[in-house]
Amino acid sequence: MSKWVSRPDDVDALVEKWADEFPQYLRAESKTQYGGHPVWALTVTDHEQESDQKPAAMFFKPHAHEPAPIAAQMNFFSQLLTGQELDGTPTALPREEILANTVLCFMPDANPAGTAAAPVDAWDGSQYTNEEFWAWMRGIDAETGKMWKRVDLWDDTVEDPLPLRYGIVYEQISEHKYVEPNRHHRSSLFQWIFELRERREGEGAFCVAEFHGGHRTVEAHGDSVRVALLRAFVMSRFGDTVGEMLQQPQALDGAIAEQVGVPGDIGDVEDLPRPDAQIGDIGTAPR
Ligand SMILES: [Zn+2]
Repeated sequence: MSKWVSRPDDVDALVEKWADEFPQYLRAESKTQYGGHPVWALTVTDHEQESDQKPAAMFFKPHAHEPAPIAAQMNFFSQLLTGQELDGTPTALPREEILANTVLCFMPDANPAGTAAAPVDAWDGSQYTNEEFWAWMRGIDAETGKMWKRVDLWDDTVEDPLPLRYGIVYEQISEHKYVEPNRHHRSSLFQWIFELRERREGEGAFCVAEFHGGHRTVEAHGDSVRVALLRAFVMSRFGDTVGEMLQQPQALDGAIAEQVGVPGDIGDVEDLPRPDAQIGDIGTAPR
């Protein structure tokens, strides 16, 4: 039996085993994607020789129809962690030097739900033609019977006609939405990349969100996730720019904000709400 590992269940089992056995070298973290699979970020270094000075590198594999990079990364971890390749061959790598002097972070499979939906472990041409492979990747077009289109983000309540089979390259991110992981910031891949970069570079928070009733995905930076989320919300409701902030007293009248303390602008001065404890009718004598 082949020692290559690329199936999500096998990857998960090995990662969990290694995380138990080699806590000094492997930090295994995951985000659960919409389809329910963990998307791993595996940081490999000698954590006991932790230092900001160590050069760091990130590696990832976005596409579910490409199992070979998963297998290669798993075999590479095996060498760094155990000193052997997955088939037992002693490693030729200077593993202690690598662990002591670098921080390597891997996302071996950024769309495991897609990988799990592939009908084969490897696309070696024996079971599917190249054209059939393409149609597994992006889906089957209902009109041509061939490969469906390539898009960054699509919604199966909007597309008409729908692909006869959804392509495995697309990561499902909500009930109806799908993205190509390396082409849209809502993917698990980008969520990890942003988080890992923030941790390393301390760049503050970055938020990619879509709000109910909003028409698009919005992105915003901030010193904290709270501020980034708030900016994203404002952007979603008001667009990329908002007017200058009004530096004058205002009072809320229902959903309308009115300037106060500027007599003459608005008809009846007597009824004007004032910010000094007299907001609207509150506090005024009964009429
Ligand atoms: Zn690819």
